[in-house]
Amino acid sequence: MTDQAVETYSGVGRLGVGSCAPCKLLWFDRSGSISLTPRAVLGLFQYIGTAAGAARTPLASTYRCPRCSDTLALTYDLQRSTRFTYWRCANDHGQLFTFNMFLREKNFIRSPTLAELNKLRETVRQISCSQCGGPIDLSEDTACTHCGAPIALIDPDGVAKAVHELTIGQQASISPATQEQTRIALSNAQLDAFLDQGPSDENESSHDLLAIGVAAIGAALGAMLLAR
Ligand SMILES: [Zn+2]
Ligand SMILES: [Zn+2]
Repeated sequence: MTDQAVETYSGVGRLGVGSCAPCKLLWFDRSGSISLTPRAVLGLFQYIGTAAGAARTPLASTYRCPRCSDTLALTYDLQRSTRFTYWRCANDHGQLFTFNMFLREKNFIRSPTLAELNKLRETVRQISCSQCGGPIDLSEDTACTHCGAPIALIDPDGVAKAVHELTIGQQASISPATQEQTRIALSNAQLDAFLDQGPSDENESSHDLLAIGVAAIGAALGAMLLAR
């Protein structure tokens, strides 16, 4: 599907953020995702959690700017040691990110540890690539053989850090013990969701580790933020 229209994401519409759930894309007006507040970042994280499991529309070869309709240019960027790509309007109207690239840019994604991989392998044999949807044999591969994307998980540490930043922004103090509790709670929510998948599920999107992780952590996050 080319020339995908990006609808306004009503939750944070006034921030100039748009989303297309089936394409798993986020549009950011002008300065892009870097100017988002911690609350907006966590709000988007939760939104991705609710939208990530939905049926996937394959990525188009080109996208147009929702403001001026010019074709967006594919852009390669490097932040800290993280490589990521996005599309941007040459007239500076904004940037278009896939969900995964947004999560990567915000340091919410990391590679699984060997212990986590082994734990996963006990229950799940085949997963689907978070990038292209292709099958990955967990017992043999650590990257997608179709598109090369490495197996990745949501990083509970990164999300806990964002919660911490949000709390500092509200001038509340947070103890290291509380922060560690947050990290462990998010970590467990993700692991439980993986283990709940069982060995054979026909729904392929349910074996997308990032979709499972972002949904589980997003839900845990919602309960946490409400309790604050
Ligand atoms: Zn434009
Ligand atoms: Zn792939």
